[in-house]
Amino acid sequence: MTRTDTAAGAAVAVIAGQRVELLDRARIYACGITPYDVTHLGHAATFVWIDAVGRMLRFAGVKPEVCRNVTDVDDVLDAAARRAGTAYDEFAAIQQFQFDRDMAALGVRSPEHEPRAHRYVEQVIRLASGLIDAGVAYHRRGSVYFRGQGVASRAGLDRAEALRLSAEFGGRPDDPAKDDPVDVAVWQATEPGHPAWDSPWGPGRPGWHAECAAMAMSVFGPAVDVHAGGADLKFPHHAYHAAMAEAFTGVRPYARAWFHSGVVTIDGAKMAKSAGNLILLDDLLAKHPAGAVRLMILDRPWAQNWDYRRALLDVAAARLQNLYQAAARNVPNDPAAVDAMRHLLADDLNVPAALDLAIEAGGAAARTLTGVLGLS
Ligand SMILES: [Zn+2]
Repeated sequence: MTRTDTAAGAAVAVIAGQRVELLDRARIYACGITPYDVTHLGHAATFVWIDAVGRMLRFAGVKPEVCRNVTDVDDVLDAAARRAGTAYDEFAAIQQFQFDRDMAALGVRSPEHEPRAHRYVEQVIRLASGLIDAGVAYHRRGSVYFRGQGVASRAGLDRAEALRLSAEFGGRPDDPAKDDPVDVAVWQATEPGHPAWDSPWGPGRPGWHAECAAMAMSVFGPAVDVHAGGADLKFPHHAYHAAMAEAFTGVRPYARAWFHSGVVTIDGAKMAKSAGNLILLDDLLAKHPAGAVRLMILDRPWAQNWDYRRALLDVAAARLQNLYQAAARNVPNDPAAVDAMRHLLADDLNVPAALDLAIEAGGAAARTLTGVLGLS
């Protein structure tokens, strides 16, 4: 992900092919969880990688400022809360508590900003008004829709694939109130079983992409240095978020670089509750050291999808042991080794090579990497 050069005092990061010059801080917006269910390995992998991006930027001399939102206004969450017979916000708070506990166990640092969607309804209403004024959104039957023409092609997708993904992620392409199926709700008119707030268009609730766009702009202004999340959020979520932000502010690009971590599969299939193949973090942590779980996630190319197998944890545990033994070796300090490691990590977050080097060099280099990777 990153190639950094701190010789001149500033850092240059190359993230997924995007060159990003950084002076003293990096604004990282991470799409957080919808707190409706227990944490599984797929979530854990995403947030461990985002944590690693921040730690490695810090190693390169830049202060990471992470904003990880909580999507606590969401149709899936509403349905789960209804099944549990609980109010959506109370249900979300309980799930959020468990998620925070899981992240702490994995050594994921708390984000600097953690906006919750239900506190940004006013900002979504302002965003919707601004998009209508700009001529890129329209009001129909109590909802406000953002015109999505061009969003799919900019994401490299044809219309059919875009509509398939939109339906899969709850985008309701068949909503008859829309001018075009690719349009998305910035504001959704009230419906039974969902929370509702007053707005100039009547009672309703924010749309998913609009929530994130409003939170990101409220915290960081019109642009971010890195927008991060799982690769499955690339479309429609991130594509529409960016398009709305750019249409609202006129600042392009909204994100200087995108960090989409690879998806974790089980026997080649995406992990999903409906498929009954979830690997729960609780179960993993009950049987394996958290450091081994963390290293299993990080000891690989970050953008590649990967298939979970039990044996990978044994490999990671052995690698971790080797690193700890190397850290305990009494060898003279070798600043060149630490420098080489910094470059390896900066060169597209090459954790496997940095780890090999740290284990071979031992001493301070291994201790430094243990800290940088959050394995101490
Ligand atoms: Zn988001």
